[in-house]
Amino acid sequence: MQDIKEIDELIKLISKLPGLGPRSSRRIILKMINNREEILKPTANALVKVFKNISRCQSCGTLKSNIEGCNNCENNKKKYNKICVVENIADQWSIENSSIYEGYFHILGGTISSSDNQKKEDLLINSLVDRVKKDKIEEVILATSTSVEGQTTAFYIQDSLKGINVKITKLAQGLPMGAEIGDNLDDGTLIQAFKNRKELIENKS
Ligand SMILES: [Zn+2]
Repeated sequence: MQDIKEIDELIKLISKLPGLGPRSSRRIILKMINNREEILKPTANALVKVFKNISRCQSCGTLKSNIEGCNNCENNKKKYNKICVVENIADQWSIENSSIYEGYFHILGGTISSSDNQKKEDLLINSLVDRVKKDKIEEVILATSTSVEGQTTAFYIQDSLKGINVKITKLAQGLPMGAEIGDNLDDGTLIQAFKNRKELIENKS
């Protein structure tokens, strides 16, 4: 490829996306450039719109439209008494697809880990505690992964909810060790894990 600064820069950026190396990035970019009006221009416009209008909801952690509001909490007309805590949006989608659960979601956006600098504030745990109190939640279902980080995070949340009159449950065994919810986990396994979820020790102070 010729040395064109703009294109090189774009290839470098696209290569950072999951599943794409420099070679597939080059193919994608060439396809776009060869279809200026049909693909390149609308993609550029759509990216600008997403950048401007989409952000993380500071209450439940999902992605929301800054114009329409958050579909998880603000626009949700139904009232639930359960809240399911997951690590990321893909996990929420898997659980929704399995139709095993009806209730609110809380997306942490990661886990507590000693190795990286994921801040506890970023996981919106304070906001989870607020939601539990405000929405009169009766059950908090911890659906973090079975990895060490996932379990540490679950323990930290349990601790943060201490003294609040709420039942805390955790997805049952059967999830493979280290499994992430959204990670190719079949519906059957997920449904079983939900059905057999266990209550954690008495939370009431
Ligand atoms: Zn929200």
